[in-house]
Amino acid sequence: MPPIDRSRLTDLIAAEQQVYTAAHPRSRELFAQGSNLFGRVPMTWMNKWTGGFPLYLDHARGNRISDVDGHTYVDFALGDTGAFAGHSPRPTVEAVARRMGDLGGITTMLPSADAQWVGAELTARFTMPLWSFTLSATDANRWAVRLARLATGKPKILVFGYCYHGSVDETFAIPGPDGKAQSRPGNVAPPVPLDLTTRAATWNDLASVERELAHGDVAAILTEPALTNIGIVLPEPGFMEGLRELATRYRALLMIDETHTFSAGWGGATATWNLEPDIFVIGKSIGGGIPCGAYGITTEVAASITSHTDAGDADIVDVGGVGGTLAGNALSTAAMRATLGEVLTHAAFEHMIDLATAFTEGVQATLDEFDVPWSVSQLGARSEYRFARPAPRTGEEAAVAHDDDLDAYMHLAMCNRGILMTPFHNMALMCPETTRADVDRHTDTFREVVGALYG
Ligand code: PMP
Repeated sequence: MPPIDRSRLTDLIAAEQQVYTAAHPRSRELFAQGSNLFGRVPMTWMNKWTGGFPLYLDHARGNRISDVDGHTYVDFALGDTGAFAGHSPRPTVEAVARRMGDLGGITTMLPSADAQWVGAELTARFTMPLWSFTLSATDANRWAVRLARLATGKPKILVFGYCYHGSVDETFAIPGPDGKAQSRPGNVAPPVPLDLTTRAATWNDLASVERELAHGDVAAILTEPALTNIGIVLPEPGFMEGLRELATRYRALLMIDETHTFSAGWGGATATWNLEPDIFVIGKSIGGGIPCGAYGITTEVAASITSHTDAGDADIVDVGGVGGTLAGNALSTAAMRATLGEVLTHAAFEHMIDLATAFTEGVQATLDEFDVPWSVSQLGARSEYRFARPAPRTGEEAAVAHDDDLDAYMHLAMCNRGILMTPFHNMALMCPETTRADVDRHTDTFREVVGALYG
């Protein structure tokens, strides 16, 4: 396996940087004018785009984004899954326009019939019989974590090192050297030391999970069915079944966050792999880009919760800490109904998964041709390459494989050739409008860009 030539990499980044800067004068100008925004951008993470300044959006449709300098890109980032249904899908746009325009009533505190349709659809896909809505996956996790503590009477949440579930305080933990949970690097001002709220285990290591559950204070194991926020780290055979079995044995709830792993299929990884969560969380994509999220619970969990609310020792109707004013609003539920009913269909998943398979094969062919020490993993309609071979088995192994320079080079070089990858890692997602020609274009471009480094 050839070692990476760092001076060549530095030269390549400099060349790509020059191209990027020269091609985007208007984006650069807008960035310079952003002095009333913290970090010059609407949300500080938008500075994660490489190139010194982000591209500024002009318009987007399907899997194409056009920037203010007149360039159009094949978008494999798809809003880091928020636009999994494609940018501005027609059925969603029409439903949202109807609700905002002819019907009226964006947020009223009243239920709408759309929410019932969506609840039934979520049950059909993800098996949970009872649903509640939020406006983000973060909020769905946050509120569901509270309910898990209420339902079990236990204080802690078990998470895996280098997981990500949104900005939920309890989840920013990694296993420490003494076995106790500790803050992951970069965690902003935790309210209390993490070991007070959290137990941390290692992905694909059931012994580490059992060791933590044995303390008897874990309300819920909160996990994705595959880690997707430190590259994709797939579960080894038996791992998810083992989690289910351990959760039951130690009376903890199994809380599965499918915000990203929905890519596994029409019913997410839960249906595709026959998982049996007690609590299910989803967000981002199901409203076609309109803010939304949802959590589903079993009838057993619901009964445990209502035993407390009936007794008056918890409040889920007023200011008890579960809910938000705009959650479940008519606009958001109309968007979910249209997106789930007409866009993210069985046929769409079949198409998207076929394309992700072709994408993965294309990447693998280049890695083989140049003997590149990277790996590529696929999860249904999502594919991701990581700078490590073999593919990491744990979050900790995947974290070590991070390489800022390689990351910068790949993202800049792809962008300069008209392809957008998600800025946080090297993830590519297919949407209903992605075509085989788009995937082939990525395959050719990936070969050119990687060949310049390793060829
Ligand atoms: N859960 C998972 C698995 C995620 O990947 C993310 C975001 N990347 C979230 C929750 C949080 O989503 P949001 O920021 O939209 O609340």
